[in-house]
Amino acid sequence: MSENRVVQGRMVTAEKLAELIEDDSVMEVDSIEESDRECPECGGNVLEVGYMPSVTEFVNGWKCQDCDWSETDRD
Ligand SMILES: [Zn+2]
Repeated sequence: MSENRVVQGRMVTAEKLAELIEDDSVMEVDSIEESDRECPECGGNVLEVGYMPSVTEFVNGWKCQDCDWSETDRD
């Protein structure tokens, strides 16, 4: 099953989406989910993905499909 989504004009996998949010490689990634949120920068659609940047940490991240905005629940 394809979980790819278009983000800023490019098809990305869940892993790639997590890497964009983290700005680094990640170990484990959940499926991409649609978020209820709206991008605070441009009003665009926001995607959500849970991932593990390391073995001891689980992070929920959000990324706008249209601009550079992203956020994690670490913030
Ligand atoms: Zn945006």
